[in-house]
Formats: sequence, structure tokens, C-alpha cells
Amino acid sequence: MKKQILIVDDLSANRSILYATLSHEYDILEAFNGEDALDIICNTHAGNTLSAIVLDLIMPIMDGFEFLEKLSELERYKNIPVLVITASSCADDEERTLRLGAWDFISKPYNSTVLKHRLSNIIARSELHLLKELQYLSKYDATTGILNKENFIKESSKLIQHNPSVEFAMIHMNIKHFNLVNSFFGVETTNRFLRLIADLLRQYCSKISRCAYARTGSESFALFIPYDKAKVESDVENMREILKKSSNQFSLYPSFGIYVTKKHWVSPSIMLDGAIIATRSIKEDYINCFAYYVDEFHDDMEREQDIISQMEKALENEEFEVWFQPKYNAMTQKTCGAEALVRWRHPEKGLITPETFIPIFERNGFIQQLDKYVWTKTCHFLKKWRDMGLDIQPISVNVSRVNLYNPQLDIELVELVNSFDIPPSYMPLEITESIFSKDVFILNNKINKLKKSGFSICMDDFGSGYSSLNVLKDVSIDTLKIDMEFFSDTENMDKSKVIIRSVVQMAADLGLKTIAEGVEQAEQAEFLRSINCDRIQGYLYAKPMPANEYQVLITKTPSDVELCE
Ligand code: C2E
Ligand code: CA
Ligand code: CA
Repeated sequence: MKKQILIVDDLSANRSILYATLSHEYDILEAFNGEDALDIICNTHAGNTLSAIVLDLIMPIMDGFEFLEKLSELERYKNIPVLVITASSCADDEERTLRLGAWDFISKPYNSTVLKHRLSNIIARSELHLLKELQYLSKYDATTGILNKENFIKESSKLIQHNPSVEFAMIHMNIKHFNLVNSFFGVETTNRFLRLIADLLRQYCSKISRCAYARTGSESFALFIPYDKAKVESDVENMREILKKSSNQFSLYPSFGIYVTKKHWVSPSIMLDGAIIATRSIKEDYINCFAYYVDEFHDDMEREQDIISQMEKALENEEFEVWFQPKYNAMTQKTCGAEALVRWRHPEKGLITPETFIPIFERNGFIQQLDKYVWTKTCHFLKKWRDMGLDIQPISVNVSRVNLYNPQLDIELVELVNSFDIPPSYMPLEITESIFSKDVFILNNKINKLKKSGFSICMDDFGSGYSSLNVLKDVSIDTLKIDMEFFSDTENMDKSKVIIRSVVQMAADLGLKTIAEGVEQAEQAEFLRSINCDRIQGYLYAKPMPANEYQVLITKTPSDVELCE
């Protein structure tokens, strides 16, 4: 197949001569001036297939100089070699075109054989350049210039081979919520931050002999170094501090997973897998910045694989059941709604609690499908019970954080409730507190949209994360859910009471309703009533129950709907 070139000249006579000289060897495209040429390069497939450009300098509309300048700004195309042909004999012009990125220069009148040689030379040079770039990319990460994963594994294997008596540590570093930087600050900022991390690793490793480091994934890096427990631990703490400081505006937290082995038959690639699993074990942990791989993780991995391999079939076969846990008005002690909670009725393993599978689905994204299923079932039951003439009460559903990255969330939820003819106020949304502490930007925007659509928002698990009470004034939620489990430390009971009292008081001052969950003892309920907490949910009153049982409950017991959500 012939290579393709683009001839850019305003005079048709010149183009014809060039065509006659070059068309035996090349496929020819023609442009009348610089603007026309840029249009062909950027807006047709030619930008990807061109081997070279033959460019005249003096042209109307956009001359050769301006064209060269514009081309050099186009990252994708700036490596297409350009041969400049001109009648100008001015040495300055020659220098200027070369400075602007032309690969070679030939003056008129030219000898056509020389022209052909020059053209084929620049094409050969550019192909060599491309080859080198590809070779580079096969070894290094293009953004940071440090090793990529494959070569890092190779380098680490060499280190083990050459130092059989040295104990090595594989350290994997993951940046929590890094995707958010990309969404909020764009590629430029993301890349700058990635390079900053690479520089830090480079600096760190310059002081260590026998080590390797690399970018191993979009938001992950790895280090392979001789293991010295105290030093490794203080070094990772240090790196975390430096990165936290230099990423002030995005509050990024790196977490580290460490795999140590003396058994040299464990390959670096397995060590890296182990280190990645260790990192994951502290993914939602904002206190511990590193974790070691332990063998139990292997069993967890297998269990996880097992669940993942069955999840889609299970959803199809309707193995997931939606249960309901009633909520009670603290004062009247009548039911005032419920929370929908999912269960997995596994054909062999029986009933599986959500703690076993929800975290896995949150990691692999399947939670979006499962949540939608739970919301749909909830609407289905609300409609069914209303159609039966029962006194329906709002049923809150859990909204996993993964859903918050779905830009269509509010639209999809509105469509869903509308399709069942259920007012959005009958399906309040519970969003976990830990999200509020990290992702306040997107959250606020999302929450406002959801509220505008008529949904009521509950901040779930208050007390589990690190939200300061300040967040409450920035994010417009309707209900605050306090999990009593986070305050169950009996030694500090008095302190817990003080905290709960002031949280409830402050929520009331901000116009928020409060609900306490995990209430197991009558004294707890008594205390909550005494501080004017609005609602109570917990085993003391009722455990989560299947839909048919909940139906019996709302059929029999009078409710207190007007106070709800
Ligand atoms: P959560 O949203 O905080 O739900 C409350 C959990 O506390 C439920 O556990 C409930 O059964 C339990 N609970 C209620 N009262 C008491 C009590 O008095 N004492 C004790 N010890 N526990 C009580 P469950 O049903 O096992 O759910 C666990 C978590 O799984 C939920 O915590 C929620 O984070 C998640 N989850 C459950 N269903 C869904 C769902 O459909 N979607 C999503 N995204 N997450 C869900
Ligand atoms: Ca919840
Ligand atoms: Ca909760």
C-alpha cells in the first residue's frame, strides 16, 4: 500500500508538478492553504494516516508559518513530518520554519530527485521516531515517565535473582477517590499530580540501592524495596503526609498495601496482587494508611470471586429479597415508615446478609443494578399496598455511593417512582455519612437535584465517619440518622449521651428530623425520647422482616404517617 502525503500549495500549477513527481510513490491529498490543510488533518481520517506534508510558505488565508505554528499545538498530529518548499531564498525564512517544527526545507527551483530523497528521508526519520516512542511506551508510563507495570515486574524479578538473600517488600500505593480529581479538575491537573507522585518515588528510591518503582494502574503506583519493617512503615507514613500536603485542595489520601516474603519462589506479580488486596482492606479506612497482606486475604478473595460469579444469575432469578424494618415515632411509638433492606436467598447457602455481598458489589459496581432492583421492588410494594387500600408509609431505600457518580440518577429515580405512580416523598433516600465527609462537592449538587425532584434525603450512619457537624449546614438534607452502635461503648456511656444530645439538638436547630437506629434497649429509647429524638428504628421494636410480614404489620397497627420523613 502506498503511503499518503498532503500537498499544501495555493497555486494549482505547483500542485500539478508535485503530483506528477510524487504520485507514483505516494497517495496524494491536496490543500489550497494552511486552513484547508488543518481542516483535512483534523476533520477527516487523514490525520491518522498521513506520512508527511509538503508545504508551500506563501499562501493566502493561512500561510505556511501560521500552519506550522498551529500544527505544533495539536498534540496528536505534531509528529507528522513537514517538508517546506518555497521560492523564498531568505535564510531567515529557513531558520524560522525549522524553529516552528518543519523537518526539512527545500528552495525553488528544486531538483525532483533531490525532493524525492528529502521527502523519503523525513518519512523514514519520523517512522524511526515513532518506533522509539513505541519502544519507550512499552517500557515506561507515558504520563509520568517511570516504569510501567510489566517492566516493573521484570525489574523486580531481576532484583530477586541477583539478591537471593535479601528480603523484599512489595508496596502498592492507591490514591483514594482519585477519579474525582479527574472529574473536577480535568486531565491537566490529574497528570500534574501523577507526575508529582512519580517525582516523590524517584526521589525516595534515589537513596536506596536495589529497588524498582512504577505506575501500575490509573491511580496506583508500586515500589519494590529491601524490607526493613521500621523504615518501611515510617517511610510510607512520610509519603502519605507529603502527598496529603501537596494535594491540599483535593484531600487525597494514599493507602499502602505491603507484601513481604522471604520465599523467593513467590513471583513479584503475585506479590503485587497480594499488596493490592492488602491496600483494598483499608480502602474505607482513613486512620490506617498501610496494611500488610495476610494469608486470610486469599480465602476472602476466593469467597469474593464466588459471589461475583453468581451475582448476575441471582438477580435474574430473583434471589434477592427486599425486607422491611419499621421505623417508629419516638413519642407515640406508632410505626411511621420503614427502611428497605436487601437479603440474598441463596439456593444452597440460605439467607445471606448484605454485609457479605454489598461491599463487594460496591467495589465492582454491581450495586447500581442491585440498588435499582431494590428501589423498583419498594415501589412495587408501595403501589400494591396502596391499591389494597392499606395506609402506606414512606419506605426509605439505601443509595450506594457508586450511584452518585451517575449523572442521570435524579432522572432515573423520578422515572421510576412515576412509573408506579408513587410520590417521591414516599421513598426517602438514605446516603451514608462517609460520603459526605469526602465528596461534598458533587454531593451537594446531586442532593439539590434530588430534593427538587421531591425526594427527601437522609444522612445515614451519622457518627460512622468523620463528618464534622459543620457539614450539616453545607448540605441540605432532611433527616439525620444516628446509629446507636457507634455510641455503644459502655465505658464512655455518659460522654456518648452528651454527644447524642447535642447532635439531636443541633439537628433540630437546623430544621432536620432525627432518627436513631440500632436501638436495642428500652433505656436507650427512653433517653432518646427525653432528648426529643423524632424516630426510632431497632430490634427493640422490630427487626427487618419479609414483605408479607410487614404487610400484616401495616394492616394491623395504626400508623403515624403525618410525622414521617
Ligand atoms: P444500614 O443502612 O445502616 O442498615 C441498618 C442495619 O442495621 C441493617 O442491617 C439492620 O438489620 C441493622 N439493625 C437494625 N436494627 C438493629 C438493632 O437494633 N441492632 C443491630 N445490631 N442491628 C440493627 P442489614 O440489613 O444487615 O444491612 C446492613 C447494611 O447493608 C445496611 O446498613 C446498608 O449499608 C447495607 N444495605 C442493606 N440493604 C441495602 C441496599 O438495598 N442497598 C445498599 N446500597 N445497601 C444496603
Ligand atoms: Ca440505611
Ligand atoms: Ca445506617
